[in-house]
Amino acid sequence: MSPLFPALADISPTAADRPALRFGERSLTYAELAAAAGATAGRLRGADRVAVWATPTLETAVGVVAALLAGVPAVPLNPKSGDSELGHIVKDSAPQLVLTSPEAELPSALAQLERVDVDVQASPRETPLPTGPTADHPALVVYTSGTTGPPKGAVIPRRAIAATLDALADAWQWTGDDVLVHALPLFHVHGLILGVLGPLRRGGSVRHLGRFDTAGVARELDSGATMLFGVPTMYHRLAEALPGDPALAAALGRARLLVSGSAALPVHDHERIAAATGRRVIERYGMTETLMNTSVRADGEPRAGTVGVPLPGVELRLVEEDGTPVAAYDGETVGEIQVRGPNLFTEYLNRPDATAAAFAPDGWFRTGDMAVRDPDGYVRIVGRKATDLIKSGGYKIGAGEIENALLEHPAVREAAVTGEPDDDLGERIVAWVVPADALHDDLAAELTRHVADRLAPHKRPRTVRFLGSLPRNDMGKIMKRALKDAQKDVRKDALENV
Ligand code: ATP
Ligand code: MG
Repeated sequence: MSPLFPALADISPTAADRPALRFGERSLTYAELAAAAGATAGRLRGADRVAVWATPTLETAVGVVAALLAGVPAVPLNPKSGDSELGHIVKDSAPQLVLTSPEAELPSALAQLERVDVDVQASPRETPLPTGPTADHPALVVYTSGTTGPPKGAVIPRRAIAATLDALADAWQWTGDDVLVHALPLFHVHGLILGVLGPLRRGGSVRHLGRFDTAGVARELDSGATMLFGVPTMYHRLAEALPGDPALAAALGRARLLVSGSAALPVHDHERIAAATGRRVIERYGMTETLMNTSVRADGEPRAGTVGVPLPGVELRLVEEDGTPVAAYDGETVGEIQVRGPNLFTEYLNRPDATAAAFAPDGWFRTGDMAVRDPDGYVRIVGRKATDLIKSGGYKIGAGEIENALLEHPAVREAAVTGEPDDDLGERIVAWVVPADALHDDLAAELTRHVADRLAPHKRPRTVRFLGSLPRNDMGKIMKRALKDAQKDVRKDALENV
């Protein structure tokens, strides 16, 4: 297999001096990265698996590249995980070592692992490592976000990383001249594979902000960055800031690519950004198990509410509940997205049952996400089968459409829609709303009128509940499990339309 990062092996002066990574004030050129990763890789010899304490730092990026060079599968750990989750992951994945920044304080759950401090200024003392892990070789074990249940360790082969990055490079015309503004965590595929390994595979560079802030995004786009990859909560904050910040609008307008993923981008935010900057955000759809499935080409036509079309090499079908694939795309028939292609994971670590259940009998991967496809191939995600598809009065209703309608109302800051058991309807639609300003008595009635103008009667929420904030995970994804639990636990009349 060809190397994952050809630019790391290119020692010509022009290539070697190009910027590769910058985190805050610290940065590495390709030559420096090759040296530091080579030195760390030398310290991994003999290990079967290595954990990476995945803070948003140079050390994490160097550590992961080192593990890939050494052919030792790396397990990125979320530093915000509690001891019990870390304990579970360490027991499940059984790494011998943990790569970390010298200054990091590691929790007791990692006490039994040998600690390797990454030195980002080191040079290899020995001859370079033999290259040549095969395409099937496990490169990473990435734990899913845990949105629908306890996180599962997806074993990701080198082939999948190469395939997904090359498919995106093709679709997004991604080159060595691209500079990415990055502000995501590094323990999921979005921040790590797309955000760090992606630019490195093309010979481009990454500037990580440490923390997302709109001023940082504007500053980097004004000083040569060409792309922003973010999650919907970031684009929401940009959309909110744009009306009062013409410099931010100008900066975003200059970006070559604005890409959103990991959760649905509300149509309202997409439209507000387009109106203020003249640029449409490209939405892409992927997951830990499949890496990236769909997007829009850089020269294509991003469409609000859709995630584009399958990427080169990815096969996608929609399958109805009885197992029959949807034959013709009509923009209405809902089916589960199933995918096939070189971008797929191999298995869930130590979970043969879950792995088997994740594949259809003919080998396609069941994503658990429900969608419709427009006649011209664009995929519209309706939501997750487990939490976003509400079966009410004989209809199957996607939460996303109702959330989008609610979010158009200026008094709504955040909205989530769930189904709740109902004797009459099977499930009733419940809207959870974070108000933009102080709550007033008539807001529930006003929102009911607002959605009545936009949605068919069977799609209108029966109940509106107000909250101070929605439960979200580190990627900003709404944890509907937690809302459903709240629904069960809290006395109903205490919550109704308060
Ligand atoms: P778990 O599998 O542990 O419940 P998770 O599914 O959130 O957690 P990830 O693999 O990080 O873990 O997320 C993938 C999921 O995120 C997809 O299956 C899909 O539901 C959602 N998703 C990703 N991108 C988009 C998008 N553009 N629009 C809508 N949903 C998206
Ligand atoms: Mg999942």
